[in-house]
Amino acid sequence: MNVSVPKETAEGERRVALVPEVVQRLTGEGLEVTLEAGAGDGAHHPDASYEEAGARTGDGFSGDVVAKVAPPSAEEIGRLSEGSVLIGFLQPLTAADTVRALAERGVTSFAMEAIPRITRAQSMDALSSQATVAGYRAGLIAAEELPRFFPMLTTAAGTVRPAKVLVLGAGVAGLQAIATARRLGAVVSAFDVRAAVKEQIESLGARFVELDMGLEDAEAAGGYARQLTDEEQQRQRELLADVIGQMDAVISTAAVPGRRAPLLVTEQAVKNMKPGSVVVDLAAETGGNCELTEPGQTVVKHDVKIAGPLGLASTMPDHASSLYARNVTSLLELMVKEGALNLDFEDEVIAGACITRDGEIVHEGAKKAAEAPA
Ligand code: NAD
Repeated sequence: MNVSVPKETAEGERRVALVPEVVQRLTGEGLEVTLEAGAGDGAHHPDASYEEAGARTGDGFSGDVVAKVAPPSAEEIGRLSEGSVLIGFLQPLTAADTVRALAERGVTSFAMEAIPRITRAQSMDALSSQATVAGYRAGLIAAEELPRFFPMLTTAAGTVRPAKVLVLGAGVAGLQAIATARRLGAVVSAFDVRAAVKEQIESLGARFVELDMGLEDAEAAGGYARQLTDEEQQRQRELLADVIGQMDAVISTAAVPGRRAPLLVTEQAVKNMKPGSVVVDLAAETGGNCELTEPGQTVVKHDVKIAGPLGLASTMPDHASSLYARNVTSLLELMVKEGALNLDFEDEVIAGACITRDGEIVHEGAKKAAEAPA
């Protein structure tokens, strides 16, 4: 069985789906790996390091299994052969055209986002590995953009008070942002609508912000947050506006799968902040948690810097690729038996991650999205 790795073509994408370390593991297990020349360059893995690990260079779309990072373009889908297997981030709930095209092409596709988040599949959880990178980077951006220190300093010129940082949404990215801001010495507090995260926030040395929202617990299926009602959202925004006003930096990471990011930081909240304060909106990709975010830009509004970075994981391509490659490899190992492709659709991980098969869209959420009127 051959696994091939194309060079990513999406703008700004520097990650690669497999790195030499896992190529060595896969070739050791009897698989062949073909790499498109230069595929690892963005992540600082030259072709020679893949060749040393047992790969050969060739057509990145020629494999029985094609491993990618970003969703394929229409042109790339045209290069996949009928009956081949594609693994990558496919945005199954939002990229309806891509999903339809994959079905029409007769590709058996697996979305890394759709892998069930069960204990057995933790090693394949690319949402978590990439969110870890993004959360870390968001913490650094906040520190970099703030015209003040993060840590408390006692100097001959007097004491500097530590920065106050609020993290909104304490999922994987939020928890990493908390940890990063704490390591830099900030005083961190955090809020999430899922009650379960209070303990996790506190174990990182941050304070859980109690908002009097009259909310029981907003945890829904799969450990994700449910969408709040309009009234709940309104109340949350009002309560948060006061809390945000006391912060030097806000890092927002709140998300609800398949939906626009919840709006948490209003223009009024930004106005409440001290001049020079910072908002890093990690939800920019899905519309933003802050009303004033401009995705992909850093703007200054009411003398507050608002960063809406996109594709943060790709800004640290080396480790982001290593972690992603291990996720893909774990999934591959579940698909292969004695060196041959063996897809067991009775397995809940294989079945759950599968988006298209035999010319059909088989993933419920993706099917619904593809059938919805444009
Ligand atoms: P996510 O990216 O979907 O959302 C980020 C955070 O935003 C979540 O914590 C969510 O509760 C929060 N949020 C949503 N609406 C909000 C609002 N209005 N206000 C404040 N916060 C809001 O989440 P994620 O990081 O992908 O993780 C989601 C869950 O999956 C977590 O429970 C996590 O522990 C769980 N998980 C499980 C596994 C596993 O068992 N394999 C692996 C990773 C994550």
